Amino acid sequence: MKPRFPDYQLRCGWNALLPRRTPSPALSSQVDADVAIIGAGYTGLAIAKRWHDHFPDHHIVLLEGSEIGEGNPGRNSGFLLETALAEDADADNLERVRQGNQMISETLQDMLREVELSGEYVDITRAGTFRAAASDIGARSIARYETFLQAAGLPFERLSRDELRARIGSSYFQEGLYSPHCYLAQPAQLIRALFKTLPDSVVCYENTPALQINNRQQKWQITTANGGVNCKRLFLANNAFAKSLGVASSRLAAMFTYAGLTPSLPDALSDTLGSDQNWGLLPTHRLGSTLRRTRDNRLLIRSAHDYEKEAKPENIQKLLTQKLHDRFPQVKEIGLESCWGGAVGFTYNGGLVWGEERPGLFVSAGCNGGGTVKGTLLGKLLADLAAGNKAPDVTRLFGSASWMPPDPIRAAAFHTASRVEAFFGKAEM
Ligand SMILES: Cc1cc2nc3c(=O)[nH]c(=O)nc-3n(C[C@H](O)[C@H](O)[C@H](O)COP(=O)(O)OP(=O)(O)OC[C@H]3O[C@@H](n4cnc5c(N)ncnc54)[C@H](O)[C@@H]3O)c2cc1C
Repeated sequence: MKPRFPDYQLRCGWNALLPRRTPSPALSSQVDADVAIIGAGYTGLAIAKRWHDHFPDHHIVLLEGSEIGEGNPGRNSGFLLETALAEDADADNLERVRQGNQMISETLQDMLREVELSGEYVDITRAGTFRAAASDIGARSIARYETFLQAAGLPFERLSRDELRARIGSSYFQEGLYSPHCYLAQPAQLIRALFKTLPDSVVCYENTPALQINNRQQKWQITTANGGVNCKRLFLANNAFAKSLGVASSRLAAMFTYAGLTPSLPDALSDTLGSDQNWGLLPTHRLGSTLRRTRDNRLLIRSAHDYEKEAKPENIQKLLTQKLHDRFPQVKEIGLESCWGGAVGFTYNGGLVWGEERPGLFVSAGCNGGGTVKGTLLGKLLADLAAGNKAPDVTRLFGSASWMPPDPIRAAAFHTASRVEAFFGKAEM
């Protein structure tokens, strides 16, 4: 059965590295609020903060199904891109891309300021990012991305197999490209810090999944296991799981993907990992694998996708370990210290589910694997829209999610497409 809200089998490896925090209490009664937000991720926190800027006297309730740091926002690979993902890059629509990138880059600077304001230590550096190809399919994708970067006047470095090996210690890739427009963060630290800067008018209930939403007498009602919320305006910021509350189910799917971290590697091994100490590598294929080397000398791998269902823990561990060892045979005696799954809000054409879906019900969903900064921006803009302020034409800038057929046709189409792509792009997976 499809999960209605995230309830992951494995602990988040990034969060496990941090001191335990005490979550705010779960909701155990009926409460009224001016505004309620479902989901305390990048999008939800941005909505709450922006709404408070507009209406400082409003009582805002934030419901989070998991705990801050342990849930989905802490489970990503920590790439904070300042520019569009390669798949969004469009050399024929430079003005549109440039405008989107400008807004994303300003949002990232706001996030950095908030981190500073939180007083929390967050491991976050403008390390840039590699994109590397292991096959001809990957090489063609790199060439397209290079065309975009050139047309957009964005700086980058082309890297041969030897140059890549010298920098990251892997001979797996035949060529690559480095661009500086990316920060790398410890995501569980980041979301904890962003949570800490919420204003006092926001009350967050953790471990409180919203189970159902209804509209009665022009009010929205949220049902939770032991309580509920009545509000005039409701924001869904729960990404892939918005559809479980009856919204956008014909445009949105939950795609599970997995990540794992090694222990800190001993000096003898980290010496074999090339000259760069803190780097990230994004795949050239949309179903490909992501890699990172962290400041404390761990390797991270993120790989594989499952439609609407999390894989078994033992299979996740085995698959990620194999893929890591393929890329770094020198660490073949080292296993993964942690591995975990997370859900990505997937849309068929990469566009967004964004805007007022029904009177008083606002939604921002469909991160498509790149929503830490973009989600923050879209959350802020959604609050502007709901407050009646002028917002830019978001769907023109970032696209609008297209229709997908219902299951079982959708599931069959996903499985067929991913098998075909995995066959042709095997080396990139
Ligand atoms: C393994 C992995 C690696 C990734 N790497 C990157 C990366 O490097 N960079 C990047 O930009 N993106 C990455 N992503 C995608 C990234 O997670 C999203 O872009 C980002 O988290 C989106 O933020 P969000 O706030 O919109 O949604 P989410 O982070 O999904 O937050 C939604 C929140 O809603 C909560 N929620 C869901 N349903 C309910 C409910 N019914 N009731 C209450 N609460 C609910 C969830 O617990 C969650 O906290 C990755 C994803 C995964 C799984």
